[in-house]
Amino acid sequence: MTRIPHYIDGKLIDTAERTAPVYDPATGAVTGEVVLASAAEVADAVRVARNALPGWRATSLTRRSDIFFRLRHLLTERRDELARIITAEHGKVLDDAAGEIARGLENVEFVAGLTHLLKGDYSEQVSRGIDVHQVKQPVGVVTCITPFNFPAMVPLWMVSSAIACGNTVILKPSEKDPSTAVFLAELFTAAGLPDGVLNVVHGDKEAVDALIDDTDVAAVSFVGSTPIAEAVYRRASDNGKRVQALGGAKNHMVVMPDADLDAAADAAVSAAYGSAGERCMAVSVLVTVGDIADELIGKVSERISVLRIGAGTDPAAEMGPLITREARDRVAAYVAGAADEGASVVVDGRDKEFDSDGFFIGVSLIDHVRPGMKVYDDEIFGPVLSVVRVDTYAEAVDLVNANQYGNGVAIFTRDGKSAREFEFDIEVGMVGVNVPIPVPVGAYSFGGWKRSLFGDTHIYGPESIHFYTRSKVVTTRWPDPSETQVNLGFPSNN
Ligand code: NAD
Repeated sequence: MTRIPHYIDGKLIDTAERTAPVYDPATGAVTGEVVLASAAEVADAVRVARNALPGWRATSLTRRSDIFFRLRHLLTERRDELARIITAEHGKVLDDAAGEIARGLENVEFVAGLTHLLKGDYSEQVSRGIDVHQVKQPVGVVTCITPFNFPAMVPLWMVSSAIACGNTVILKPSEKDPSTAVFLAELFTAAGLPDGVLNVVHGDKEAVDALIDDTDVAAVSFVGSTPIAEAVYRRASDNGKRVQALGGAKNHMVVMPDADLDAAADAAVSAAYGSAGERCMAVSVLVTVGDIADELIGKVSERISVLRIGAGTDPAAEMGPLITREARDRVAAYVAGAADEGASVVVDGRDKEFDSDGFFIGVSLIDHVRPGMKVYDDEIFGPVLSVVRVDTYAEAVDLVNANQYGNGVAIFTRDGKSAREFEFDIEVGMVGVNVPIPVPVGAYSFGGWKRSLFGDTHIYGPESIHFYTRSKVVTTRWPDPSETQVNLGFPSNN
């Protein structure tokens, strides 16, 4: 069994007394144990990051940019190895693991252009003989706390932007699949990043609390479930830190009566069950408008019947296991309770048998779901698709807008007017028109509305540059000494 150590100051560190088991979700076997940092160990790591800050923020932009170009090369070259590490601890199929690396890479490519992104502003002659310029400076030591479901992509989204802006970082990955973060940190080092700029500290609540309470941590980026996101947001904000905390989701896919139902069924099945539904942008509610429900459910069921579920390393598998036994049992409990709540279980994933002790469950499709049922109200985070039938477009919009979450949403239609109205009306951060998982390309930023995001800045892309820098405005005058005089009046510009 391997021990998964911290990565601090360019070294693998294994001093922790507490550990947590790490599983291969495809077999159910414990394959490693991850060390869990104490508050004292967190404090040591933060000191390392603080000490690395002056040197890193003084490093030239071209040198920083060069590191990201080299990192891009290394990530591409070692993509398959990284995908295998992700699959071994997360369980997702290898193709999907490669897909998350590609989406993380987008932000590495974006920040490689940091010489452009960190440009300031300049205004000449704002008053006679006076100029003003604005510069973007790093905020300091940043902590990035990431979820289990994208062990490579989410760290690459946060860490790349934070480092590019001249900050030093403590990454606290999920303790469920921690090896990817260490591999990424080693790649950063191989790309030329100085020791101490990126540190990986493993841990649970104790480590997170220590990080967000540490006076030397200036900013906190968090992605995870809504209750933890909200708690981290409040505690870190109370401590005076800049915080962005992205939470959970319940993503609706609205299918209009004029939509191509085969295309809609393909999209719904792909987006609901890909990565076993363990995606914050997974479609978990299919909203049928008008009288298309029976036909669409038939098409979705046909596609479900031929889905191949197996170990993530099996090239034939399209969907892998869930992350833990508890996650699998939690999903099963929602499906078990759905009928008592008044819904109809069309496909019951619990019926599927697996010749493995892994954390597998089949996919479920539940019809006649309504708000107020647990299966609708809660984020299940598993391969369960609920169908809500509505009569009109207006009812569909009201349903989505009343939901506590606002991460992603999609409309499927062949009518441009409906699509345009939807974009205008819907209260969700990321909208797809005939696109079921509208994760924005790297030149935009990612973030939901309502209880899917605490704070006001989205992650990666342009908004990340804003989040990880603070602006300083400098007003300059080079007067002739003969022209200066005492003047107690308030400075005015003329
Ligand atoms: P989680 O909230 O359990 O854990 C996220 C992080 O918080 C981990 O690093 C974990 O160690 C830490 N943590 C857990 N409990 C804590 C506590 N009590 N106090 C302090 N820290 C704690 O989330 P998860 O299960 O790893 O990830 C799945 C969740 O993340 C889902 O809700 C999913 O929707 C969400 N998610 C959201 C986005 C997004 O962009 N909005 C992206 C990916 C995942």
